[in-house]
Amino acid sequence: MTKPPMLTAQQALDHLLLHAKPVSGSEVVPMQAALGRVLAEDVKSLVDVPPMDNTSMDGYAVRIADLNIASHLKIAQRIPAGSVGSQLEPGTAARIFTGAPIPPGADAVVMQEDCTVLEGSGEDVQINSALKVGQWIRRKGEDLTAGKTALSARTFLRPQELGVAASAGLTHLSVKRRVRVAAFFTGDELALPGEPLKPGGIYNSNRDTLLACLKALGCDATDLGIVPDRLDVTRATLRAASKDHDLIITSGGVSVGEEDHIKPAVTAEGRLNLWQIAIKPGKPLAFGAVRRSNNPDDGEAWFMGLPGNPVSSFVTFLLFVRPFILQLQGREAGPPRSYPMRADFDWLKGDRRNEFLRVKINDQGGLDLFQNQSSGVLTSASWSDGLVDCPPGQIFKAGDFVKYIPLSALLY
Ligand code: AMP
Ligand code: MG
Repeated sequence: MTKPPMLTAQQALDHLLLHAKPVSGSEVVPMQAALGRVLAEDVKSLVDVPPMDNTSMDGYAVRIADLNIASHLKIAQRIPAGSVGSQLEPGTAARIFTGAPIPPGADAVVMQEDCTVLEGSGEDVQINSALKVGQWIRRKGEDLTAGKTALSARTFLRPQELGVAASAGLTHLSVKRRVRVAAFFTGDELALPGEPLKPGGIYNSNRDTLLACLKALGCDATDLGIVPDRLDVTRATLRAASKDHDLIITSGGVSVGEEDHIKPAVTAEGRLNLWQIAIKPGKPLAFGAVRRSNNPDDGEAWFMGLPGNPVSSFVTFLLFVRPFILQLQGREAGPPRSYPMRADFDWLKGDRRNEFLRVKINDQGGLDLFQNQSSGVLTSASWSDGLVDCPPGQIFKAGDFVKYIPLSALLY
């Protein structure tokens, strides 16, 4: 049996991204349904934001020129948020509250902490601080201007983007259709949590990890369950899944043992590359496509087969499946954000493969290492908040800076 080619992570990624074309189709959904979706079109603001000059403080709107002449002003009007004042006459001040429009004629706001309402008069305010033109005034359009792009097409919508669109006056957003992904999990040893474990069995954890990863990315995820280590069932499941999905992902069965049926099954139903990627955890990764029918016009569903070990399947999902999905969604699929961080541990083993160590930021601003880095120990992934990307052969000592990738940046 010939050994699959060994690729670097970058070579594998370049190959994947060369193939993933954004799915077509969009829909208009109400604002709250757009969370976790991808914008299909630019959003242009319907209004200026803020719509008018307004005060960012409770206090008094004044004309600075008046204060060159007098230190106190007559309080001539009161402007709460939501109402509109009138022309500020010379020698007067307007009592004003945060968010209220600046009255015409005023050129600064004095915060109430810098003022004294004169005893007895009840109507005069003394200004106790020096003033600058425009102070405490939020200018019309300083956030967004009417007609200008507030959010660009291809943006992944987080809570703050929904807020921006709402501030721009929109009720609905045009979003890309969800990428449809089917997932199944191979292995005769697998049992669903809730079922008794038979001898030799283990619970299927990849199902919950991977389906949740897909949901976090905003995919439509179909769970096709556990598929036994049999060629005919694996082929039938692939055929069924290809019909109405853009991508099929699996875990397990991508080594080249005789119980590993992914390679022959996908090859029979479409085409497949089986790669060895020089990373740890990880290594085997299958990439290919499954024909939807004998009619080439029906096209293919993409296929990605992940290793079975739980940490390997999680890490290869984040490093390879995620960017592939981002590109199907029409999002930017650049390299994961990384930051130089201080390692507070020694790493002297220098593996031949590019390692992704499970680490956590400590209270001193350095990184601690999870002791057991085995690809079967999934608690390493829940304990950690990031990965150290450690190039082949690299060793380091406590105090050295390393490349830290936050997991949170890979889960949306
Ligand atoms: P495989 O890639 O099929 O050779 O599996 C590698 C290891 O991962 C074996 O120890 C499997 O029992 C384990 N494994 C495979 N699939 C899963 C899964 N869905 N959940 C938990 N462990 C799994
Ligand atoms: Mg297996």
